Amino acid sequence: IVEMKGMNKYFGKLHVLKDIDLTVEKGEVVVIIGASGSGKSTLIRCVNGLEEFESGRLDVDGHALAPKGGNQKNLNEIRKEVGMVFQQFNLFPHLTVKKNIMLAPMKVKSTAQTVANATAERLLERVGIGNQADKYPSQLSGGQQQRVAIARALAMEPRLMLFDEPTSALDPEMIGEVLDVMRELAKEGMTMMVVTHEMGFAREVADRVIYIHEGQIVEQGKPDDVFDNPESERTQAFLSRVL
Ligand code: ATP
Ligand code: MG
Repeated sequence: IVEMKGMNKYFGKLHVLKDIDLTVEKGEVVVIIGASGSGKSTLIRCVNGLEEFESGRLDVDGHALAPKGGNQKNLNEIRKEVGMVFQQFNLFPHLTVKKNIMLAPMKVKSTAQTVANATAERLLERVGIGNQADKYPSQLSGGQQQRVAIARALAMEPRLMLFDEPTSALDPEMIGEVLDVMRELAKEGMTMMVVTHEMGFAREVADRVIYIHEGQIVEQGKPDDVFDNPESERTQAFLSRVL
């Protein structure tokens, strides 16, 4: 569902992504790990066009995203199909939880209000906060807000979900409830690209772990192989710091 081929990305002179080749199959859960500044966020932000890249190929669900300066005619289509959850929840503070979830389907897909309402209620149940629908984001805990953010992304019926450190801003006792929702999603067959420092989650849920160092994919494989028998010394050094 995602295919990157020889992708390069610069911020000015800084070469942030170097010749990235990466394929994600439908239903696959790919966890991306690496040190701060290695390019993890930039990589997944390219997938829904939040960052432009300079050269190479990127296809998302059969739609090509053009390099910088190219024709971005597929961008709206891709954004409809790709959900994203950030470290900061980015909920609309002036809207209730339920309205936060109803907004995009009604605006972007012209979903009828009654339908959007029913979907929002169903999704809130699914992420375990059906009783919080009429509260405002500021009245919820961080873990609850992040579950709203996940429900909001799911309301667009995405074919692919991107997660960029979804638990990094949470108090420790709330990390588990968000990871549980993600684990369920993975079980239900959602295709996911996840940047996280939660190595336990990566080991348990990922089909594939990708280690990025200075903008290059240094190693990838099944979690047990990458964690227990890393081939590259760089991966070993990184893992010895974080495990
Ligand atoms: P972290 O674990 O800290 O989130 P990361 O792996 O997600 O790091 P990126 O955010 O992708 O790393 O950043 C990769 C490199 O690009 C870093 O050197 C960063 O400083 C730089 N960078 C990121 N965003 C921008 C930007 N908008 N303008 C200029 N440089 C940027
Ligand atoms: Mg990042």
